Amino acid sequence: MTTLYIGNHTSSSKEYAAMGKQTVKNGGNTFAFFTRNPRGGKAKTIDETDIRKFLSLAEEEHFGKIVAHAPYTLNCCAGKEDLRIFARDTFADDLQRMEYTPGNYYNFHPGSHVGQGTEIGIQKIAEILNDVLTEEQTTTVLLETMSGKGTEMGRNFEELKEILNRIEKENKMGICMDTCHVWDGGYDIVHNLDGVLNEFDRIIGLSRLKAVHLNDSLNDLGSNKDRHARIGEGKIGLEALIRIIKHPALAGIPFILETPNDDAGWAEEIRILKEAFYH
Ligand code: FE
Ligand code: FE
Ligand code: ZN
Repeated sequence: MTTLYIGNHTSSSKEYAAMGKQTVKNGGNTFAFFTRNPRGGKAKTIDETDIRKFLSLAEEEHFGKIVAHAPYTLNCCAGKEDLRIFARDTFADDLQRMEYTPGNYYNFHPGSHVGQGTEIGIQKIAEILNDVLTEEQTTTVLLETMSGKGTEMGRNFEELKEILNRIEKENKMGICMDTCHVWDGGYDIVHNLDGVLNEFDRIIGLSRLKAVHLNDSLNDLGSNKDRHARIGEGKIGLEALIRIIKHPALAGIPFILETPNDDAGWAEEIRILKEAFYH
């Protein structure tokens, strides 16, 4: 039987060992966290004792891969050059920090082209990735599928593939599929999950799909909105989300809840999803 790797995005950026312990309390075996203040700023210095504690906890508890999240303000295809310098520096610094917990995932939003157009957007994103990715890194960098609000990049599988195509170290890259975002972006994962996954496979390749952000959505299919709902309280619904965690094409990858919740709420969602997965 395959293992379900499930956990939640931690509510506050704490020490690694504390995030690991809270994950175990919530019933999870993976988690997500912001590498620094989600709105940017300086990262906390890494405490090697804390890292050691976390690594042994993760081993004891058979954690799956953890999924770090870049700050929202990191926009690789910003119009202003100072914002791109911030994006490049933050990206490079985060990738160095990620090596303290080797072999995990670093997820980021492709960015917003802010009126420059998708072609320039794709070029600028690839340019920064080509600057910061290294042959030595053990981290896989994940582009997140986006809902397509405003001038957001990564609104469909074709656009994500275009970005991947221009990255020299493509073997360091993967995709994180956010269920709320793809639904809001017009992919009907409720009535046609197989069709959506086949399309993903045809355009990008399922071997690139490394993680899922498991969220319900407050809005309708194709709304291009991006408002997360608790599991079973949105337009996607519990049954469809259960089909996703049980889908053989997604077996073994981490599922991260980014639902508007507290730890008690996440523990309850994890309990319901594990129950559905194992029974
Ligand atoms: Fe995200
Ligand atoms: Fe997400
Ligand atoms: Zn979102």
